[in-house]
Amino acid sequence: MSERNQSQEQQGSVRDELHPALLILDDLVRIQSVNPHYGSDAHGESEVAAYIERRFAGTNVQITRQPVFPGRENLVLELRTGHPEATLLFETHMDTVSIGSMADALTPNYRDGRMYARGACDAKGSLAGMIWALEECAKHPELLQADIVLCAAVDEEHEYRGLRVFMAGEMPVTGAVVGEPTELGIVVAHKGCARFAVTTHGVAAHSSMPEEGDSAIYQMMHVMQFIRDIIEPQLAQVNHPLCGSPTIVAGTIHGGTQINIVPEQCEIELDRRILPGELPEVVIAEFEQQLRHYIEQENLQVKVTVRELLLDWALQTPQDAAVVSFAREAARALDLSDELIGVTYGSDASKLQRQGIPTIVYGPGSIAQAHSKEEWVSVREVGLAADFYYQLARSFGSE
Ligand SMILES: [Zn+2]
Repeated sequence: MSERNQSQEQQGSVRDELHPALLILDDLVRIQSVNPHYGSDAHGESEVAAYIERRFAGTNVQITRQPVFPGRENLVLELRTGHPEATLLFETHMDTVSIGSMADALTPNYRDGRMYARGACDAKGSLAGMIWALEECAKHPELLQADIVLCAAVDEEHEYRGLRVFMAGEMPVTGAVVGEPTELGIVVAHKGCARFAVTTHGVAAHSSMPEEGDSAIYQMMHVMQFIRDIIEPQLAQVNHPLCGSPTIVAGTIHGGTQINIVPEQCEIELDRRILPGELPEVVIAEFEQQLRHYIEQENLQVKVTVRELLLDWALQTPQDAAVVSFAREAARALDLSDELIGVTYGSDASKLQRQGIPTIVYGPGSIAQAHSKEEWVSVREVGLAADFYYQLARSFGSE
């Protein structure tokens, strides 16, 4: 037997013993669904949507396509069981980041209990589990005490437009699970971020007469010093029990236009990760106020402007929310950790929570593998996450 046939046979036998959610994942990763933002050979989400639609065709699950961009639609699946007062939402995304340098990214490769493929971890492992759980629920809706909705969204990997369109529909929801890799940890808190630019304004002059000018780059040195000496130690003092300390990074710097001109402008872009309880717009305003105060106090000749780039909220779900209690119960029933944890990356959960929907994040795989050229997910975790979603759906809404 050739080596190739042998490994194919091994794959076959591995597949046979596996959780049915893994077979769904196997199908999903073979469908290219790179977000169109990442290049012209990206297919977008429509083939994944069509696949899910086919699975639920002719069942008691109501299917709605929600237009977001031309040819790109959220798929909203509703299992109405006569319990609209308790509606559990499963939400995750169908798009992936680009294939990048990942080899054979669309052919699942099983090795050491892992499946390697683009999207396996972020977030098709979660999506497969949610599809399977909904299929199981749909077989016996009379066993449920809640309506179950699955939103498979487009465009999470770029501008979150899919989720925004779903939320604009204002469907009543009483608890939500966002599918992202959490290594089967129940995430009730995560950081958000405030991204903004700081520009210093000098006076241009010929470099043969620098005394006629005022260097914006030299001005920026003072701003950087302020960040390193004042802001960073301040942030290190703050600690959130689940998320740790807030952080700040100057990711880019641009200044000057030509080697022989005193630079008129210099700009840095800052990424400040915020804690639950902080508001991104307030964080930016306070930074600016503190910086202006520093400039004045130190008597510096620095002219700055501050410009907002992106705001994303942190997540803090009340620990007594029903979805949290049911999630912990589901985890215990499956012998999984029921510990409530926080993570440092952001997700759609904070947007749902901001709309008043208690939300957790839960899924197989680790964020460390998401977006990487070695993306993989633990085969075992995919099955367990699927079981967890099903267990949660079964108990949600009960007394
Ligand atoms: Zn994701």
